Amino acid sequence: MSVSKADYYEVLGVARDCSEQELKSAYRKQALKYHPDRNPGDRSAEEKFKEASEAYQVLSDADKRAAYDRYGHAGVSGAGGFPGGPFAGGPFAGGVDIGDIFGDLFGEMFGGGAGQRASRQQRGDDLRFDLAIDFEDAFFGTETDVKLRRLEVCQTCGGRGSASGRGPSTCSHCGGRGQIRFQQGFFSVARTCAACSGTGQVITDPCPTCRGEGRSAAEVKVHVKVPPGVEEGTRIRYGGEGDAGRAGGPKGDLYIVLSIRPHDFFERQGYDLHCAIPISFPQATLGDEFEIAGVDGPVNIKVPEGTQSGREIRIRGRGVPHLNARGAGDLVVKVIVQIPRKLTRAQKELVQKLSETMTVDNKPSAPSLLEKMKDLFS
Ligand SMILES: [Zn+2]
Ligand SMILES: [Zn+2]
Repeated sequence: MSVSKADYYEVLGVARDCSEQELKSAYRKQALKYHPDRNPGDRSAEEKFKEASEAYQVLSDADKRAAYDRYGHAGVSGAGGFPGGPFAGGPFAGGVDIGDIFGDLFGEMFGGGAGQRASRQQRGDDLRFDLAIDFEDAFFGTETDVKLRRLEVCQTCGGRGSASGRGPSTCSHCGGRGQIRFQQGFFSVARTCAACSGTGQVITDPCPTCRGEGRSAAEVKVHVKVPPGVEEGTRIRYGGEGDAGRAGGPKGDLYIVLSIRPHDFFERQGYDLHCAIPISFPQATLGDEFEIAGVDGPVNIKVPEGTQSGREIRIRGRGVPHLNARGAGDLVVKVIVQIPRKLTRAQKELVQKLSETMTVDNKPSAPSLLEKMKDLFS
């Protein structure tokens, strides 16, 4: 069963850096549209429903989402993933924990619902910080402090949200159930209690600093370690360095997303470094040896006799160090033979003398063939 799967973000129609809230609402939309009870007998709707549920399951779990972002489907399937798929035994069998979203969803759709109470505690949001580093820092690795604003546990109330420190008390509106039931025609319909947002609890004496949220925004410094070998778009996850949770809920994660400033001479292709250097006609003809300044120190370049313009000289192990592994890529130096535009009289005479000893058959030939012939003579 190695069918290639659709991208989870595309399935839900969200951006890769979408928030938990965006994710949730995108999934609700899809689930409502494709739910099997709304599309009886429609296999493609059922497929779409399963796909969306699987995507949400992975992306709503910070660890699985991080694994998916790094390694794609391979990061979240197999061991520890979904043995037999999330809906192995029919739409609702199997150990799928879609959590409170389904409570809400069915509450609205069918007026019944699991009667599950929403939690006052909520995990804090994951945060993304874009960090631009120099080319050399990506090569050697670096450490730096980043300053960012995030929600921190409120110092005044210690995260409890109430001024007296008593914490939340039972909502008098719904009696702590989180839902208000009323009769509508034949049905008994349950609505989320507005007074407590379905949590069944309210803060009667909100903390003046955080207004009962248990957290407030603050500027913080986070120490970031960038290992050698990172590339454009590499994400580094710092667990628990995101927003503080609501009402003492767990903290979100921080993702440092790296961008790398270009180098003046070196271009990166994977772990290989590429650059071009000019050489003279005599150097190309007779061969030469010289040093160039590499990213990690001087590099000795040997130009063999009879080198053609455009030839690539590969220096093993002088490229970018492998990320979290031993070894490094290669340095690839492309030599470009420079044809002088201006010569002194003496030089001109020398070249003229040389030309008398050299002949080239100026016969037309297909360009690709000429390229091959070049190699023969190199
Ligand atoms: Zn209530
Ligand atoms: Zn507070």
